[in-house]
Amino acid sequence: MINLILFGPPGSGKGTQAKKLAEKYKLIHISTGDLFRYEMGNDTPLGLKAKEFIAAGNLVPDSITVGMLENKLNKHLDSAGFILDGFPRTIAQCEALDKIFADKNMSISKLVALEVGEEELIKRLLERGKTSGRKDDSDESIIENRIKVYHEETSPVFNYYDNQKLSHKINGIGSIEDIFGRLCDSIDSLS
Ligand code: AMP
Repeated sequence: MINLILFGPPGSGKGTQAKKLAEKYKLIHISTGDLFRYEMGNDTPLGLKAKEFIAAGNLVPDSITVGMLENKLNKHLDSAGFILDGFPRTIAQCEALDKIFADKNMSISKLVALEVGEEELIKRLLERGKTSGRKDDSDESIIENRIKVYHEETSPVFNYYDNQKLSHKINGIGSIEDIFGRLCDSIDSLS
C-alpha cells in the first residue's frame, strides 16, 4: 500500500495534483475540503457544523474533521492506497491519523510538500475564486486568514513528518505537467 500526504498552503495546487496522482498510481484521493463542500452542498448536520469555520477561513475542529476522514478511509480499505489532500492540518490530526493507521496496520509512506510563495498563492486563489464559486477564494481578507492559519496551525505538520524522515519538498512553481513530473519522481523513489 502507498499512503501519501500531499501537503502545502492553500492555492499550492494540491487538489489538481492529487487528482492526477490518484489516477496514475490507482490511489483513493481524499480531500477533506471536498468532503466538507459535499456535506455543505447537501445541508447535512456535518455540513452545517462546518459552514461557519470554512466561510471565515478557519479550520473546522479536529473532532469533526477526523471522524469524517476515518469514515471515508473505512470505505476503501481494500484499495492500493490513499492520497490525503488537505489532511492532516494540525498536530492533533497527525496524532489521530497515526492511531487510526496503527489500528489498521497501515502507515504513511511519504509527505510531499508543494512550495509556492505567498504572492503567487493569493494570485492563484483570487483567480480560482472567479470560477470556482468558492466564497473562501473570492475575498482577499479570508484568503489572507487561510494563509495565516496555515502558518500558525498547519506548518508544524511538515516538521512532524520531517522528524520521521518522511518528508520531501517539491518546487510548486511551473506548469502542471512539470510539477506532476517532480511529484512522480518523488513517489517513484519509494519503490
Ligand atoms: P481546502 O479545500 O483544502 O482548501 O479546504 C477548505 C476549507 O475546509 C479549509 O479552509 C478549512 O476551513 C476546511 N478544512 C479542510 N480540511 C481541513 C482539515 N484537515 N482540518 C480542518 N479544516 C479543514
